[in-house]
This record gives sequence, structure tokens and C-alpha cells, in this order.
Amino acid sequence: AIRLERGGKSFGIYPVFQDLNLAVKPGEVVSIIGPSGSGKTTLIRSLNGLETLEHGVVYLEEKPFLAGSKEKLAKSLRHVSSDALRIGMVFQNFNLFPHRTALENVMIGPLYHKRASASELRQEARTMLNDVGMLVHENKYPHQLSGGQQQRVAIARALAMHPSILLFDEPTSALDPETVGEVLRIMAALARSGRTMVIVTHEMKFAMEVSDRVVFMEKGRIVFDGSPALLAERRREDGRLAEFVRI
Ligand code: ATP
Repeated sequence: AIRLERGGKSFGIYPVFQDLNLAVKPGEVVSIIGPSGSGKTTLIRSLNGLETLEHGVVYLEEKPFLAGSKEKLAKSLRHVSSDALRIGMVFQNFNLFPHRTALENVMIGPLYHKRASASELRQEARTMLNDVGMLVHENKYPHQLSGGQQQRVAIARALAMHPSILLFDEPTSALDPETVGEVLRIMAALARSGRTMVIVTHEMKFAMEVSDRVVFMEKGRIVFDGSPALLAERRREDGRLAEFVRI
């Protein structure tokens, strides 16, 4: 479970969001949608400390995990670095290590953190690559792979750290249309397997089909938070939602 309470963030004098609340339960799949610039990426990056909040607290499994710079939680936040490993992140631009093979990219985190022996970690990494259909490409470098293939390696890399939560920041936005499906299929399988997932996406059909909840953000505010069925219903009455949520 992850929860942001009264989060606030600005870039310079421009507030992205203020007093924002978001709670994700274990096993829940939450998609964050909304127009460009509404703060979706900033929000998801704030959940794992890639952006520093000014206000608010992030709780991970009900424990204070990150605090805005104006909050004083130093004591309870001492173990943040090890807790941070429990959050896996998949980025828009894959962010694979360019001079490492697919297999090395998946192994590097667990090796660094000495989760097990190198040979065990290698075996596990190969299993993870197999799960995303990338074992045949284990010895290729990122530049030898398509965007969709790189993103599948990035998902395996995130899973290799045994995260309790997976965050996806527009994972298909940088992909050629023909490779979007292969990444969405893997994400849908993860969602079905009971993973806790937060997904910033512009893939409306995917969000409606796969999510337990859809969160619609506009200008730094959450203007809708509910099930896909409720969103489909609201869309009929709310012109703004109807304009955006077309599937
Ligand atoms: P998109 O769907 O286009 O990715 P978004 O909803 O994810 O948009 P954010 O990327 O979170 O929106 O951006 C929210 C606002 O914060 C925008 O006005 C953006 O220009 C601004 N912003 C984001 N990152 C920075 C930064 N590093 N420095 C300054 N302003 C930023």
C-alpha cells in the first residue's frame, strides 16, 4: 500500500499540486489519466522520492516513508533507502544502462544489493526475462532492441528487485504504435496477478479495462477518482470527462 497525504509541489513559483491525497491499497491497480501538464508525472515521481515534495507525507505499507521538506519526520524516515527498494519504477524512456546487456540490466540491482549468490541471481534474472518474452534477447544491448523490447526488459528489471509496488510513468508514450500492445499485455498480466500498480498513462482503453480505479487529474487536482464503470457513467453527464475519456 502507498498513500500520499496532503502532498504539495511547485516548480519555482508555479504550484503543480497542493493538498493532494492519493491512497493505493495492496493489490490495487490505479491508473492516473488527464491532460498534458496536469501533474501526473510529478505526482508519481513524488511517490518514490524522485521529486521532493514541499509538503505532505508519503506512507509505504502504513509507515511514513517520505516527507515534504516542510515536515519534520527525520526519525521515522531513517530507513527510507532500504524501503525505497520496495518500489519498482518503469519510465517512459526505459532508462536501461546502455553498455549493459538485457540480462545484465536485470541482474545489476539485485547483484548490487547482494540478494543472493551471483549464479542464483542470474537464474532468477533469466526467469524474469523469460516471463516478459525477452530471454532470446538476453545478450543484446539496448540499442539492438526495439522500444517495446527495451521496455519489457525494464519491466523485468523492476520485478527483479521484488518490489511490493510498481510505478509506471507513461510506459508506452515513447513507443512505436506497433510495439505498444506487447508492453500493455505484460502490464495487464501483472495487474491480473495481484500486483499493486500505479500507472500514469494516455492509453484510455487500457486504463478502463485493467484498472480497479481511474484517477483523473486536471491542473493539479484530482477531479475524478473511482472505478472504470463509474467513470463511464460520469462521462455521460460531464462534458470535460467525455472530451478526454474517449475509447
Ligand atoms: P504529460 O501528460 O504531458 O506528461 P503531466 O500531467 O505528467 O503531463 P507533469 O509532467 O507532472 O504533467 O508537469 C506538471 C507541470 O509541472 C507542468 O506545467 C510542467 O511544465 C511542470 N514541470 C514538470 N517538471 C518540471 C521541472 N523539472 N521544472 C519545471 N517545471 C516542471
